[in-house]
Amino acid sequence: MSAGIALGFFIAVPCALAQRTQLKPGWNMFSPQQDVEVGKRAALDAEKQLPLCNAPKVDAYLTQLGMRLAAKLPTGGVEYPFEFHCVNDKAINAFALPGGYVFVNRGAIEAADDEAQLAGVMAHELSHVALRHGTNQATKAEAAQGVLGIAGGIFGGSTGGALLTQLGSFAAGGVLLRYSRTAESQADTMGTQVLYDTGYDPRALAQFFEKLGAETKGKNPPEFFSDHPNPEHRIERVDEEIDKLGGVPPNAKRDSAEFEAAKREVLALPVVKKAGPGAPGAMAAPAPPSGNFAGYQANLYTLKYPDNWKKYPDSNSGGVSFSPEGGIVDDGSGHSVLAYGFIVSITQASGDPGESNALDNATRQVIQGLQQSNPNMKIARQPERVRLNGKHGLSTYLNNDSPAGGAETDWVITVMRPEGVFAFVCVAPQKVYSNYDKTFSAILDSIRFPK
Ligand SMILES: [Zn+2]
Repeated sequence: MSAGIALGFFIAVPCALAQRTQLKPGWNMFSPQQDVEVGKRAALDAEKQLPLCNAPKVDAYLTQLGMRLAAKLPTGGVEYPFEFHCVNDKAINAFALPGGYVFVNRGAIEAADDEAQLAGVMAHELSHVALRHGTNQATKAEAAQGVLGIAGGIFGGSTGGALLTQLGSFAAGGVLLRYSRTAESQADTMGTQVLYDTGYDPRALAQFFEKLGAETKGKNPPEFFSDHPNPEHRIERVDEEIDKLGGVPPNAKRDSAEFEAAKREVLALPVVKKAGPGAPGAMAAPAPPSGNFAGYQANLYTLKYPDNWKKYPDSNSGGVSFSPEGGIVDDGSGHSVLAYGFIVSITQASGDPGESNALDNATRQVIQGLQQSNPNMKIARQPERVRLNGKHGLSTYLNNDSPAGGAETDWVITVMRPEGVFAFVCVAPQKVYSNYDKTFSAILDSIRFPK
């Protein structure tokens, strides 16, 4: 009989000592400090491009809640400069840029039943930061594609300061913020641990996502799921983790007066109308390009652009975008992308620039970089030889889905220079492209490289 007792005891021990799941960031070619650099630049752009709530009390509340969660976040000793912003957008969404820059839509605050659910969304986002999923995915994409675009793009190439913004057609924004299901599952697990360690009901995270899924069955899924795809067996996985943590604590926190006050305040904010396909009819076509041109002077080139277009320079890469008022729209999943305008991107060539086919190879890489974040982008006319300011170039036409609706025409001119590959990208919806053709040609004709 004594053997039976011993056996029972023996079985009970491993259960009681069940360990929480240990999670560590994956393979990454970037340093945590570079996560912060990338995230900071993207966050500054996001702040310019997104309608912020401008509700100091709500921002203070999000910061206070976020910092409490961040204090329990296993960052492996890295100190991230966490920031929390409220975005005046009714879509249920939130995102975190590498390095700890967290943006929470008012829609997510309004949809949360209590503080624990909001804390769950924020703990999930913070877990993407700690697990460095954004730059991990950029690393994997770079390795898989062997494309100049990603690393060059983030740190000095085409996309630089343009994450989330005018160069949404380039790689980085999509790569940093569109997570895999594995990354989602990891962020759920760590987020649940963070909730538990902060004293919140750890079930709140999965409950919130379940609620979002259930409320939108058969309808448009919330924006959140376009960047954070629902992992398999979400609820069961979270429940398993809660068991490992020792179950739901008896006095787990659910709500607070501060949450209810913040929720009332965001509900009272004026609604900002969104442009783009998410809000049909909200988008007016931009005014026609002016026939008067303004000068733009960069170190490596000069050009002229219509004087009623705005410029969005990327000081790190030397690239720039020009777009009319209303030419940058939401792509329907919270990313601002350029629908009308002109982009200059400079990236490093990966091959030997002296090779006879260097321009062909570089052009192929530029197009692959574009296609990576625009899966429906197709070559409409194969590269043809052209001259730009006396230099050899290639002219390629592409078709894409326009973020303004319908089809888009992209005309790409690539030129090799000692500093790298220059890509000049002309973008407009197909149905109005002919109205822009003359302007694009005038801009291209005005380009001058220093002697
Ligand atoms: Zn996620």
